[in-house]
Amino acid sequence: MIVVRHYPVLPRTTSTPLPRLRLTILPSATPRRFCSSHTADDKDRSKKDITMYLQETHDKVFENNKSWAAEQVAKDPDFFKKLAAGQNPEYLWIGCSDSRIPAEQITGLQPGDAFVHRNIANLVCNTDLNVMSVIEYAVKHLQVKHIVVCGHYGCGGVKAAMTPKDLGLMNPWLRNIRDVYRLHEKELDAIADEEARYERLVELNVYEQCRNVVKTAALQQSYAENGFPIIHGWVFNFRDGMLKDLNVDFKTILKDIQKIYNLTN
Ligand SMILES: [Zn+2]
Repeated sequence: MIVVRHYPVLPRTTSTPLPRLRLTILPSATPRRFCSSHTADDKDRSKKDITMYLQETHDKVFENNKSWAAEQVAKDPDFFKKLAAGQNPEYLWIGCSDSRIPAEQITGLQPGDAFVHRNIANLVCNTDLNVMSVIEYAVKHLQVKHIVVCGHYGCGGVKAAMTPKDLGLMNPWLRNIRDVYRLHEKELDAIADEEARYERLVELNVYEQCRNVVKTAALQQSYAENGFPIIHGWVFNFRDGMLKDLNVDFKTILKDIQKIYNLTN
C-alpha cells in the first residue's frame, strides 16, 4: 500500500491561468498574510487590500467575458444565434475538477462540441445522482457518439485517496479510488517507484471508471440499438500538455461487463 509523506489535499494550481481569464492583480491589491505583530492600522490596510483584490478578481472575469463575446461576433456574426439554437455535442467528457484541465482548450473543441461533467478524480459512481443523470441525458437525449473519461497524472484526488488519514466528508468519495487500488493491488504493489505507482493508479482509475460507464443501462441500451456511444480512457499530462489514449478495449469490456451487469433486456 502506498504511504504518502505529505498530505496533498487537492491540487494547488501553480501553472499558467487560462488565457482569456488571466487575472492581472495590482501589487497594491495583493492579499497579505496577517501577522500577530501587525498594528491595528496594518490589519485595517490588509482588510482593504483583500477587499480590493476580491473586487478586482471578480470584475476581471466580466471584462474578459465582454472581450470574448466581442471576439466571437467579430469572427462569426451568427455565433450566438447558432449557440442559442440548441446543442448537439458529439462528446461527453467526464474529467477531474482540477483547474488545470479545461476540456475544450486542451482538445481544441468549441462551445457546443462537448457535454462536460467534472468531479474530484473523474469518478463514475453508481450512487452519484449527478454523474448518472449526466450520462443518462448525454446518451439518451443528446445522443453523444463518444464518452471520454479523462484523468491526469499528478491527480491530487488520487493522492489524497492514498493518504492514510481521515479526510472527513471526502472519505466515501475517495474510497472509490482505494477500491481501484484493491482491485489492482498485485500490479501496483509490484511497482517500486512511488511516482510510477501513482501514475499507474491514475491510469487504472480511468480504466475502472470507463467500466463503470459501461455498467449503465443508458450506455448498454444505446450501443445495442445504435452502435454508439463508444468509450475512451485518456490521461492528461501536465509536463507536456499531451493526452495519452489508454486504448481502452470497449467491445471486450462491454462483453465482459454484460456477463453480470447486462441491462439490455
Ligand atoms: Zn485530479
